[in-house]
Amino acid sequence: MSPATKSKNPVPMKERMKVPRQLMPEQAPELRAHNFEEVNLGYSAELARQEAQRCLECAKPTCTDNCPVGVKVKEFVELIVAGDFLGAAAKIREDCVLPAITGRVCPQEDQCEGKCLLSKKVKPLGIGYLERFVADYEQKMGTHVLPKVAPTGKKVAIVGSGPSGLTVAGDLIQKGHKVHVFEALHEIGGVLVYGIPEFRLPKQIVREQIDYMRQMGVEFETDVVVGRTVTIDELMEEEGYDAVYIGTGAGLPQFMNIPGEHLNGVYSANEFLTRINLMKAYKFPVYDEPMLDLHGKNVAVIGGGNTALDAIRSALRLGAGMAYVLYRRSEAEMPARAEEVHHAQQEGIDFQMLTAPVEFLSDAKGWLTAARCVRMELGEPDASGRRRPVPIQGSEFDLPLSVAIMAIGTTANPIVQTTTPGLGTNKRGYIVASEETQRTTRKGVFAGGDIVTGAATVILAMGAGRRAAKSIHEYLTTGEWEGQA
Ligand SMILES: Cc1cc2nc3c(=O)[nH]c(=O)nc-3n(C[C@H](O)[C@H](O)[C@H](O)COP(=O)(O)OP(=O)(O)OC[C@H]3O[C@@H](n4cnc5c(N)ncnc54)[C@H](O)[C@@H]3O)c2cc1C
Repeated sequence: MSPATKSKNPVPMKERMKVPRQLMPEQAPELRAHNFEEVNLGYSAELARQEAQRCLECAKPTCTDNCPVGVKVKEFVELIVAGDFLGAAAKIREDCVLPAITGRVCPQEDQCEGKCLLSKKVKPLGIGYLERFVADYEQKMGTHVLPKVAPTGKKVAIVGSGPSGLTVAGDLIQKGHKVHVFEALHEIGGVLVYGIPEFRLPKQIVREQIDYMRQMGVEFETDVVVGRTVTIDELMEEEGYDAVYIGTGAGLPQFMNIPGEHLNGVYSANEFLTRINLMKAYKFPVYDEPMLDLHGKNVAVIGGGNTALDAIRSALRLGAGMAYVLYRRSEAEMPARAEEVHHAQQEGIDFQMLTAPVEFLSDAKGWLTAARCVRMELGEPDASGRRRPVPIQGSEFDLPLSVAIMAIGTTANPIVQTTTPGLGTNKRGYIVASEETQRTTRKGVFAGGDIVTGAATVILAMGAGRRAAKSIHEYLTTGEWEGQA
């Protein structure tokens, strides 16, 4: 380190490995298993500074290299050490527009923290916890500055209000373009509001970000299904939009196609979580959602990702007697965030690993009574690189259940693709777009997030949104179009 960049960190470099990672204060498991309030309570300023002081200030910060949007971790952490929390928030915002959200839901163990040098010997730096701390601090201080920009006279339509659409909106409004977001549901935020439950991502956090965008001039319109209410051609040819961004996500649930999947009591995770989040079953008994009265009932989710854990932990909070995860591989292969697996285990979720349903059974009225399951063992790796689950002959057993939630993945909803002539899609129905510019095969139409990549992560959707905004701005200012080859 050169004298000019002398560290302000009071902890000598050789002592930093000895400082333990500061624990995130959280609600006690026995308490939180019965409420929808946020599990993690957030660092205090003191805890944040202590944690930040563990940073090894690497000359080549691999944490940043491993962040899909390249957040300058070392620089924002240095600002925390110096006590400049607003400066740290501003530094993160250079690369990430929704830090209060990514600090809470990014899979840090696979990204920034996964490459932290500390993790070779001790626990990695709590980068997600620190990001969340400064974003919340900034929000509490109410110091967002509204940018002043001259209007360009150009109009952009954004289809879908998930993290990718919101990122495009936030970036383009700051370039002076008029931005209008169309959302099919009655609430703005995509998966951030209809999927991820309150106990992981309070809706108020998302609403604050959206309010800020409104103040900047972004217009939001709900209950508009593009492709049904209005088409992309109509938006461009009749309503005068100069460009369109499609960020419609991958919200179409997939099923196993096993007998009994149509029974009463079998849900897709999307429906189950939407009922809880948007129809406010999480506010039970103030809002009563009779279909989700789970008191004393046995509930199982099928799957091992974030969606599966969100669904079953919500079921537990709605009073489920037994709450099972049926996952066909082992814990090592589970795609969910490590912290969520840990929290779910603490809350008493019963993980039935190497187990899959082969049939759902019912009573005479068609209500689910049990899942016939089979145990698995792991064989050779499959195309995904993970070991393939192989059923063990003669291992069938019946698990008594009242509710089963299918969380085995989602795919693209075809409405926009099938109503937009010339818009290229791949064989799985996702929109084809350039990885650098997010340009599609239709002039003036851009796409990004899950509708291009398939179900992925919040930060990847935001990264695509950022690239798209840059590319849309270039298109609007130069008029040049080089579509996807
Ligand atoms: C339950 C759940 C938990 C998750 N947990 C995590 C996590 O912890 N960490 C993480 O990084 N990722 C997580 N993910 C994945 C992450 O949320 C997604 O990758 C991300 O939201 C994708 O963003 P997006 O903007 O592409 O789409 P979405 O967030 O899906 O938003 C798309 C929006 O478009 C709207 N729309 C669709 N069609 C139309 C139409 N025709 N007209 C108008 N609007 C339309 C939809 O209603 C939706 O609001 C989770 C996903 C789910 C379902």
